[in-house]
Amino acid sequence: MNIKTKQTYYKLFINGEWVEAQESATFEVVDPATNEVIAHVAKGEEKEATLAVDAAAEAFKTWSKTPARKRANLMWDLYDKVLENEEELAQLITKEAGKPLKQARLEVKNGAEYIRWNAEEARRVYGTTVESTFPSKRLHIKKEAVGPVAAITPWNFPFSMIARKISPAIAAGCTIVLKPAEQTPLSAIKFFEIAAEVGFPKGVMNLVTGTPNAIGDTWLSDKRIRKITFTGSTAVGKMLYKKAADQMKRVSMELGGHAPVIVFDDCDLDAAVKQIAGSKFNNCGQACISPNRIYVQESIIDEFTEKLEKMVARLKVGHGLNDNSDVGPLINASGLEKVKSHVNDAVEKGATVVTGGEPFAENGCENGFFYMPTILKDVNETMKIANEETFGPVAPILSFTSDEEVIEKANDTDYGLAAYIFTTNLSRSHKVSEALEYGMVGVNDTLLAQVEGAFGGVKESGIGSEGGPETLRDFLESKFISTTI
Ligand code: NAD
Repeated sequence: MNIKTKQTYYKLFINGEWVEAQESATFEVVDPATNEVIAHVAKGEEKEATLAVDAAAEAFKTWSKTPARKRANLMWDLYDKVLENEEELAQLITKEAGKPLKQARLEVKNGAEYIRWNAEEARRVYGTTVESTFPSKRLHIKKEAVGPVAAITPWNFPFSMIARKISPAIAAGCTIVLKPAEQTPLSAIKFFEIAAEVGFPKGVMNLVTGTPNAIGDTWLSDKRIRKITFTGSTAVGKMLYKKAADQMKRVSMELGGHAPVIVFDDCDLDAAVKQIAGSKFNNCGQACISPNRIYVQESIIDEFTEKLEKMVARLKVGHGLNDNSDVGPLINASGLEKVKSHVNDAVEKGATVVTGGEPFAENGCENGFFYMPTILKDVNETMKIANEETFGPVAPILSFTSDEEVIEKANDTDYGLAAYIFTTNLSRSHKVSEALEYGMVGVNDTLLAQVEGAFGGVKESGIGSEGGPETLRDFLESKFISTTI
């Protein structure tokens, strides 16, 4: 797929066909590293959103009855084809989202793994037979696909988020209508091109790019859509959840986070610093599980800061297509403004800039939305950065003395997605990870997006999880059948 001009813009994929939006309306996609328009994409609205539901509802009648083995076989083909197209998908992710190519390649591999895992799980959906109190009755609990599903995804992992939503849905026998983020529709379009080649029946997967609220509201008010699966900000998630309540639609919500990292003085410090730096600056800090508050035990805070500074000094900022870039741009001007405002607010309230602390505008990065990898020390809880998602390459360091104190501070947020602890004390690792009010805890580990795990948050970070042994649970209903014989 080449980046195309307005004359050959990308279309919507509805009922197995590539179709235009009404009046050939389009919107622009911008490379955040250069601020140049790189593509024009069809701008769907209510009408296109409804056509997609028509297709998904019709296809559901047969797809939900298709044997799981057959659904899984198609998904295996999809997995293979995604990997065949890894490089093209990765380049598209880099162009639209700005992330370094090496990270984009990992994202494609990770997304593919979700397709494979869900294909494997498609055949492991079991019902239950329960003994009745009454000898004349036979009781069965059967699992059935929820129905046509609407999926809405964010820009920060534009490919893997789509793979994580589509693959459990179709594995369970649901059909899907999907709206990717307006900043990053290109890898989604490529995904649908690949799916079309694989030969899924028409209407099983439908793609509508375009105006978010017009598409979202149409899907939420259409009774044929039985579930919404959303990844994005908590603010938008709450709004969608309220609208879904009107028709009791099922919901899965993967929302924002504010991840605490707790570095105890008994940890392997070099390993901890390496992992924290890797996680913090991955995707320029634009990840829901990115470390947001790094609590370091007072006795090792200077040593920790020095080691982290050395690690950060090695990071190269640049266009993601440059082989040696480690940190790309923020997604857009408002993303950059948010980072600047959080750093300025922290400095005004007493934080010290250890390194960075400014936008980056050299070596071809003059027009993009780049910010220097930054470390702040002397951070405290009065600062915005200690409470709101910064979504940028800034590592804020806070100090603590006791386990009780840091657990209380770490939990003092409405978010509950990911938390991390670094310690070599087995008892402490159990006690602290159990006391943390988070859906995921990494112990000496920041790699949480593993397909075998259950990725999801508690509190205002979401409902449900993706991956792991319960991956299809949220796309299935239990039907109880009681028979008198
Ligand atoms: P966002 O909430 O602004 O947008 C997410 C999606 O919702 C986009 O497709 C957008 O077009 C759509 N949207 C926005 N307003 C809408 C409306 N009124 N109706 C229907 N759809 C609407 O989030 P974002 O900026 O794209 O992504 C960043 C956020 O996503 C962060 O908060 C991050 O933490 C979160 N996130 C969470 C996870 C997770 O697994 N928990 C993963 C990635 C990102």
